[in-house]
Amino acid sequence: MTATLTDTLQHWINNANYSADDRSGKVYNPATGEVSGHVALASKATTEHAIAAAAAAFPKWRDTSLARRTAIMFNFRQLLAERKGELAAIITAEHGKVLDDALGEVARGLEVVELCCNAPYLLKGEFSQNASTGIDVQSMRQPVGVSAIISPFNFPAMVPLWFFPVAIASGNAVVLKPSEKDPSAANWLAELFAEAGLPEGVLNVVHGDKEAVDTLLTDPRVNSVSFVGSTPIAQYVYSTGTAHNKRVQAFGGAKNHMLVLPDADLDLAADMAVNAGFGAAGERCMAISVVVAIDTIADELVAKIAERAKTLRVGDGTRGCDMGPLITGEHKAKVAGYIEAGIDAGAELVLDGRTGTVDADGEGFFLHPTMFDRVGTDMSIYTEEIFGPVLSVVRVDTFNEGIDLINSSPYGNGTAIFTNDGGAARRFEDEIQVGMVGVNVPIPVPVGYHSFGGWKASLFGDQHAYGPEGFKFFTRNKVITKRWLDPSHGGINLGFPQND
Ligand code: NAD
Repeated sequence: MTATLTDTLQHWINNANYSADDRSGKVYNPATGEVSGHVALASKATTEHAIAAAAAAFPKWRDTSLARRTAIMFNFRQLLAERKGELAAIITAEHGKVLDDALGEVARGLEVVELCCNAPYLLKGEFSQNASTGIDVQSMRQPVGVSAIISPFNFPAMVPLWFFPVAIASGNAVVLKPSEKDPSAANWLAELFAEAGLPEGVLNVVHGDKEAVDTLLTDPRVNSVSFVGSTPIAQYVYSTGTAHNKRVQAFGGAKNHMLVLPDADLDLAADMAVNAGFGAAGERCMAISVVVAIDTIADELVAKIAERAKTLRVGDGTRGCDMGPLITGEHKAKVAGYIEAGIDAGAELVLDGRTGTVDADGEGFFLHPTMFDRVGTDMSIYTEEIFGPVLSVVRVDTFNEGIDLINSSPYGNGTAIFTNDGGAARRFEDEIQVGMVGVNVPIPVPVGYHSFGGWKASLFGDQHAYGPEGFKFFTRNKVITKRWLDPSHGGINLGFPQND
């Protein structure tokens, strides 16, 4: 559909709004179900304009001193900390997650900005004096150039903040393509960075869909691509981007298991299963969607989770509720379809979230907490990422069976074990084929100074986000082997250089 440019969120290029596109998408308030605005959808030409802006800004930004770059980062950190409430309100209005959760998202993004205030330390090179007689070797990290960042709907502020501060602190210029479902947070962040002193063209935002993404993946001026979204698109982005000679990290979907051993504190485990299963209505890549219970404690654990989940208040995220709506009516219908499929497949429906009271005005996209027990590993509610408030309980007889089950999942984003047995936890840490592991911690999202990333179908590429690996991704290593002229050296020698 088309909309007038005045009621449509525009792109942000060279520190100003940029309007050129007829195509636009609808943005909803998921708590009321109403269209709250529109967003421009970039054509190839608009996306190329943003890439050109970044490519033009890059040389000067690359040569801007670490001291100046860091000073701007400190300003950005200060403004973001002062005005985080505004950003959280934008997130709740377009994503639907409750305000406290939105503030949590901003806080985790802010952690990465704080890390980036320390960028000079992380960008330091290495030096070996006299590696060979009279020869010194130095390595240094240089920015890759133009970095494209493509982000999903579920963390409209935090996921962009995982990447663009690191890219920019490292000396790159960025084109950010946020989700078209909740696009306003990206403009707000880019405007704030401009207010903090970021020069024109260093951070550009283009809104759009496949057309914009495909342009970013194929344009020769783009040097790196950081993508977060569903596994099929992550795979597509990885193969297309690398085929066009780009450095790509593509984070995909997840199915995160929480293993509960008989010696665990079951009240703690039940609290955590509810928090991690139903927080943000299950629309988190680190949500727990499967509880793996040893059969001897499964009845008690299921009862404790159900008792807690029933008390959750579902409604508009601005009204102090526990759980908000899903992102769109279409997604709500898809999740409800999985609930039908689980019933049809013979799983035991302990909590049915398709009905219940909601504290909201209008027809928002709400579901209530849903839980299935005795889920089979061949059922679609187990094999597929539902991305909604649907918790599956799979019963196993032994600890080893639990480990094998988790390791046979195609995904490897996050997992957790609940136990008071240090030996069992230690074996779990060692043997589990998952990138982020919690021990009595249900959502083990690493702190800013470690790096975030899953394994298997949850990440295509090798470098993880933010932390030390983030800085590696956004920089290339250069090694310089040097000798200053010394009259005692010289002469012809065609042999391969050896060190002595
Ligand atoms: P999505 O894959 O639909 O969209 C992600 C991005 O890709 C968006 O910017 C979208 O505009 C773009 N896109 C969508 N279809 C495209 C296509 N055909 N070609 C090119 N680009 C396309 O994901 P989503 O629904 O926005 O987000 C939810 C998914 O993201 C879940 O699968 C979740 O697990 C995953 N996720 C993963 C992580 C992680 O760290 N592994 C973090 C957050 C979210």
